[in-house]
Amino acid sequence: MSSNNTPRSITRNGQVYEEDLIFERSKPGRVAFSLPEDDTDLPLPMESSLVRNADELRLPEVSEPDIVRHYTRLSSWNYGIDMNLYPLGSCTMKYNPRINEEIASLPAIADVHPDTPPQFSQNIIKIYHDMQDLLCRLTDMDGATLQPAAGAHGELTGLYLIQAAVKAKNEKRDVILIPDSAHGTNPATCTLAGFKVRQVKSKEDGLLDIDDIKANMGPDVAGMMITNPSTLGIFEYNIRKIADLLHDNGSYLYMDGANYNAIIGIVSLKKMGVDVSHLNLHKTFSTPHGGGGPGAAAVVVADSLKPYLPGPIAAKDESGNYVWTNPENSIGRMKSGPGHTGVVARALAYVLTYGKNIHLVAENSVLNANLARKSLADEFTIASPERSMHEAVFSDGGQKKSGFATLDLAKSLIDYGYHPPTVYFPLNVSGAMMVEPTETESPESIRHFAEVMNHISRRMKDGDASVHEAPQRAYIKRVDEVRAARQPILNYFSNSKKNDTGS
Ligand SMILES: *Cc1c(COP(=O)(O)O)cnc(C)c1O
Repeated sequence: MSSNNTPRSITRNGQVYEEDLIFERSKPGRVAFSLPEDDTDLPLPMESSLVRNADELRLPEVSEPDIVRHYTRLSSWNYGIDMNLYPLGSCTMKYNPRINEEIASLPAIADVHPDTPPQFSQNIIKIYHDMQDLLCRLTDMDGATLQPAAGAHGELTGLYLIQAAVKAKNEKRDVILIPDSAHGTNPATCTLAGFKVRQVKSKEDGLLDIDDIKANMGPDVAGMMITNPSTLGIFEYNIRKIADLLHDNGSYLYMDGANYNAIIGIVSLKKMGVDVSHLNLHKTFSTPHGGGGPGAAAVVVADSLKPYLPGPIAAKDESGNYVWTNPENSIGRMKSGPGHTGVVARALAYVLTYGKNIHLVAENSVLNANLARKSLADEFTIASPERSMHEAVFSDGGQKKSGFATLDLAKSLIDYGYHPPTVYFPLNVSGAMMVEPTETESPESIRHFAEVMNHISRRMKDGDASVHEAPQRAYIKRVDEVRAARQPILNYFSNSKKNDTGS
């Protein structure tokens, strides 16, 4: 990658600007370990069957410092919540307090095997038990499972519960109503669970169209999935009315609660008429995400669906011991093991450190989203006149007129040291830009982000063509996103033209 005459830069401001692939650093025979010749009977690692096929695997041959430096340098290219604000709407990228990490890494939590008998893992079952209990109290629901591995997996769990309840009543209902503003996982999960999706419209203001819901209701409707607050960042005020319509029809209300950050500690899901909902522990409950680590979802249910919950569920027996139980008509396990224990432990620590003040999470996330909305209002067109909850969605109206797209803005933000917001989602907003600062940002950091967004917008209105070329300061310039998606290169050896990086 380096040119022939200029020595390439190793670091600048602590950042490496050029980095070969680990395969390109490979030198035949170079290894990352040093062990004496085999003069004992001990089977050394290189003789084990796992390593015997190393040649076939064609692993890079590098030294230990090569490996450590390569990955440490790459890690400095990452953008993370520990570096700066992360405005990724719908994702709730909040700062994760270090105390939760410390608690999840305690050996008594991190080192316990999932199959440890209950008498030796009382502390683990208690963590699940207390979290289930707190979630029921927070949401005002009757039962909870912490098994699902992520939000979409929670949706699948919830839909299986609805399916089980419909079957128990000897009914045939195979349709789920879903609004056009829904998160992509909603229709995908319905299809995976074997339901048919029937789309219902949202109105100009982003709220659901009750008449359209009535028009689509029928004996084949098993339930409806509603995201509340919606993906437009607004509260679905009619949710109780819609729940009544569904219940009168013998159908269930699934609330996608991935946006629970905006209402935690304030709103009762029971009073909204919700039968089942998933909450993303890696969004609202401060588990780090976006880096590929495990997430988890909690699914909370009303009494009507409680008998079908997946096991094991943590409970306390008469003698005060913590035990794993299985609900009588359980749909079975959703995964092996009780759940992602490290994530549940972080979530429990998070809730307990807020205690009675947990509502401040919602209040401050709404306050911050509205500060962002107001600070961007002069340059950007808000997508819904309704009050914003935890995020504000803008359309590209103003920028489009000057010949620029949302993508130009997103790419340009990188040059100013910001991760772009979620763009082109929700699908029912033209060139959507979805900004969610979360409650962990200070007013100063939100104002600075808005200042940069507004500055880029003014450059666009001034016809500054260089915005089309952004990012300029990043190592990789603008990539061909269509080609990247259609012809992904997933393996070093299938890519013989190794310098073809698209930069
Ligand atoms: C994030 C999100 C999901 C999916 O959650 P995953 O953990 O990514 O599977 C579903 N619905 C909404 C509204 C979301 O924001």
